[in-house]
Amino acid sequence: MEVHLEPGHPSPCPIEPIGVIHTCFKEKFGIPRQPNLAAKAPGMLEFFPEFSRQEAVRGLEQFSHIWLIFLFHRAVKKEGGWSPMVRPPRLGGNKKIGVFASRSPFRPNPIGMSCVRLERVEITAKGPVLHLTGVDILDQTPVLDIKPYLPYSDRVDTARDGFAPAPGPGACEVSFSSTAATQILERQKTFPNLMSIITQVLENDPRPGYSSTHCSNMEKDFGPEKTEENRLYGIRLFDFDLKWQAAGNKIQVIRLDTA
Ligand code: SAM
Repeated sequence: MEVHLEPGHPSPCPIEPIGVIHTCFKEKFGIPRQPNLAAKAPGMLEFFPEFSRQEAVRGLEQFSHIWLIFLFHRAVKKEGGWSPMVRPPRLGGNKKIGVFASRSPFRPNPIGMSCVRLERVEITAKGPVLHLTGVDILDQTPVLDIKPYLPYSDRVDTARDGFAPAPGPGACEVSFSSTAATQILERQKTFPNLMSIITQVLENDPRPGYSSTHCSNMEKDFGPEKTEENRLYGIRLFDFDLKWQAAGNKIQVIRLDTA
C-alpha cells in the first residue's frame, strides 16, 4: 500500500535516536522480561549532543514514571525479515502467538516501550541526564523518545490481560552462598542495592523456556550428585559475571566472577 504524504512533508521516516541508555544489563540473558520486575535495576539516560538541551526536559521532573521508546538494537532479524509468529518465553518457549500479540523484540520494526521510574533529572555540564530504575533494557540501547506516564489515561484498571495475567509462573526462591553474600556486600559499596537487584532478577527466573511449575514438586536440593542442578548459569551484570545454580524453583547465587 502506498502512503500519500502531504506536499512538503519531511522524509517518510525522520527518526533518529535522541540518546542512549546505560544499564546494569550487559547481555540479553537475565534481563527482566518487562519493566519494574526488577524495581531497583538502574539505568542512566544520556542525550546525544543535538538533543542534550536542558529546556527539552523542563517539567519532566514532575513525573514519577516515564515511557521510554527505544530500538531493540541487538534483536537480529532472521534471513528474509520478520516472522509473523513468535514463541514468548512466558508460554514456556514452545507455544506460538502472533508477533503483534507479543512484546517480543523480534518484530518488523524493532521498537520497544517501557514505563520506568524516573528517580531524578540531573543537569550536568554536558546536559541533562535521567536517572531511572526498573529497566528491562540492554546496556547501550539507543533511545528514540521519552514521554511522561499519565496515570489518568495510561492506567486501565479494567484491562484484559490475555495470556499474560502475571509476570510468570511463580517467583523463584533466591538464596546466597556465603562467598556470594560476602562479595555482594563488598560490591554494594560501588553498586547500591546490589543484593536487591540480584534477588529481583533471579526471582523472575531467567532460565529460557522454563516454567518453574514443571519442577515445583521435584523438591530437589542443591547437591553434587545432581546434573541439571549442577549447571552453572552466568549473567553479566554491572562489571561482573553472576554465577548461579537452580533446582526446581530454588535458585542459589554461587559467586561473582570478574567479567
Ligand atoms: N518492555 C519492552 C516492550 O514491551 O517493548 C521490552 C520487552 S522485551 C520482552 C524485554 C526483553 O528484550 C529483555 O528481556 C531483553 O532480553 C530484550 N532486550 C532488551 N533490550 C534489548 C536490545 N537493545 N536489543 C535486543 N533485545 C533487547
